[in-house]
Amino acid sequence: MTTTVAVLGSTGSIGTQALDVVRGEPDRYRVAALGAWSSVELLADQAREFRPEVVALGDPARAGELRALVPSATEVVAGQDALTSVAGHADVVLNAVVGFAGLPITLATLEAGHRLALANKESLIAGGPVVQRARAGGGGEIVPVDSEHCALHQCLRAGGDHEVARLVLTASGGPFRGRSGADLAEVTVDDALAHPTWSMGPKITVDSSTLMNKGLEVIEAHELFAVAYDRIEVVVHPQSVVHSMVEFSDGATLAQLSLPDMRLPIAYALAWPERSGIPFGAIDWARLARLDFEAPDADAFPCLGLAYEAGRAGGSAPAWLNAANEVAVDAFLAGRIPWSLIAEVLKSALAEHDGTPLDDVEAVIEVDRRARELTTKIVERSVTA
Ligand code: NDP
Ligand code: MG
Repeated sequence: MTTTVAVLGSTGSIGTQALDVVRGEPDRYRVAALGAWSSVELLADQAREFRPEVVALGDPARAGELRALVPSATEVVAGQDALTSVAGHADVVLNAVVGFAGLPITLATLEAGHRLALANKESLIAGGPVVQRARAGGGGEIVPVDSEHCALHQCLRAGGDHEVARLVLTASGGPFRGRSGADLAEVTVDDALAHPTWSMGPKITVDSSTLMNKGLEVIEAHELFAVAYDRIEVVVHPQSVVHSMVEFSDGATLAQLSLPDMRLPIAYALAWPERSGIPFGAIDWARLARLDFEAPDADAFPCLGLAYEAGRAGGSAPAWLNAANEVAVDAFLAGRIPWSLIAEVLKSALAEHDGTPLDDVEAVIEVDRRARELTTKIVERSVTA
């Protein structure tokens, strides 16, 4: 039977790799919908190749251009809610949009009772309680695409929830692993974007360099698997071959190993509960000389600790931190603040968090808005200081 797939964020790093997965198993999948923000040419190329029923464009100003380029049978929808409106069009919706903008897609997919292949971790982190309600009430399920959580999802199949002792998330350590705080004062945007093992979009690559990505992933793991923060650990593993581990109550640890290739977790989420028929690289055990593990450096990379703090505070604190982080990362990428100030800005922003409860999606949007406003002011102050 063919599985219909909606790839939202199809022009990005995850989106294009997802289409590669679909290309590899044409009898298994049919692309029902594609969506992106404003990459009209690439989106049109994808529409011509995959012939979806509908293509969604976030930026309404370019809808006319897109209509002129896609096959006549393909409907084009455009505007703020366009991607969300197509979330119900498929058996599996891959949310590969970057940032908080992915929240309505996550909610709409779960509320419609569909499977959500979730790359957009920000929606789960910011929308925590609201997403959980949609997940429980709508009948939809989340299958994680993030490689660590995909690994945990696989390892957790080996035991019951009550038998889980610890989740151990691995981190590559990013481009600045092993460097001290003082040594990091002068790093540039290009340095931060040069990830040693993964090729990803700019936002998550910067998050990897600060270890905020791992911090966000700790919150993501808590939300996905309902494991307490005291039982979620992070270990640095520079080879990115062990993608994460679960330690069970008897001391047995299960790990998932594979070459660093995001197509594997994407294919896992699309094929679930089956497995993909395509091997994304095989480990050559005789050549894999070593697997290293070390503790993360909490002093040089304070963002990891800030994420634990926000996660433990719960409620709207993760949403607040997530919004502040998006503003700080944008400011860094625009050359407005140095890398070393990202954590400082986030620390100041988190200190102002006031514990508003997250009762509904409007409350999440309001917390996100206020945190962005505050963080923008903190950035302005530090620019003029
Ligand atoms: P990219 O920046 O490469 O791609 C982002 C995609 O989202 C593009 O298709 C972009 O469209 C679209 N987009 C951006 N803003 C909006 C918006 N406001 N509304 C609708 N669509 C929008 O990001 P990545 O693929 O790297 O990351 C996507 C998500 O997956 C992130 O949440 C990230 O944390 C997560 N992830 C990524 C991994 C990776 O290897 N890249 C690994 C694990 C998780 P356009 O091209 O038109 O701008
Ligand atoms: Mg990850």
